[in-house]
Amino acid sequence: MSVSKYVGRFAPSPTGPLHFGSIITALGSFLDAHSQKGIWLLRIDDIDTARVRTGACDAIMRALEALGLHWDGDVVFQGQRLAAYQTALAELRSRNMLYACVCPRRILKGKPYPGTCRDLTAPPRQRHSYRIKTHHESISLHDRLQGQLSLSLQKEWGDFIVHRADGLIAYHLAVVIDDSWQGVNHIVRGMDLFHSTTCQVYLQKIFGVDTPSYCHLPVAVDHSGKKISKQNHAKDALLHEKPVSILIKALTFLGQQPVTGLQQASVNEVLDWAKQNWDLSKVPKRQEIPVSL
Ligand SMILES: [Zn+2]
Repeated sequence: MSVSKYVGRFAPSPTGPLHFGSIITALGSFLDAHSQKGIWLLRIDDIDTARVRTGACDAIMRALEALGLHWDGDVVFQGQRLAAYQTALAELRSRNMLYACVCPRRILKGKPYPGTCRDLTAPPRQRHSYRIKTHHESISLHDRLQGQLSLSLQKEWGDFIVHRADGLIAYHLAVVIDDSWQGVNHIVRGMDLFHSTTCQVYLQKIFGVDTPSYCHLPVAVDHSGKKISKQNHAKDALLHEKPVSILIKALTFLGQQPVTGLQQASVNEVLDWAKQNWDLSKVPKRQEIPVSL
């Protein structure tokens, strides 16, 4: 039996500079891949064109390089993968798994979609999204850090959107198609995506592709409990701080107890230490951890 090589990835959206929250994910996935002699890919999730900021992609790549987080192979841009997503949508359509939905997002108020448009007979003339039919059976996944998760897509999300009303491809569809196409078999990312991973597992089953191994790391929040993200204008981590001290902060956040003396070391020395000592069982099993930046 052949054991497939570890293929991991980091997939930031170029909506702003690399902030401390995404550095944690980048570092965690990088170390997990390297500690298992795997490869670590970089994919730019730039399909949400309205949110993409000019220059953000270059800034993210420069920041990763400054932090010594060098990726393997060519960078993949989701914006160049639209044909593959259209093929996937066509497959779902031909299998009668999609339907048009005209409900504005705001009326759902975060509640699961009740299937209002499932039985629309005539194709709608107004703007519409496409939803995928889900069912009541539970979808389960085992997370290496967070343990078992099992939930009913119907109860949690309802039929979810795969093609948005603004014409953009929904995240869940794009990410499943790309992870499978790139052979990604290990995903390490933030806890904020944990529950919605079930939507991706559902799509993987539909397309008959392997479900990768998942590991969801705690996310950094500010002291009011808000996720540190580009949406709340998190600052560029490298603007006022040296790469080595950011790496040490991120290692500490991930429970890795960097040894004293590393503050004076080089980026590569810090990463060498971290690769040799990476221990997933030391990462706090928490949803979020407050940090002061
Ligand atoms: Zn609807």
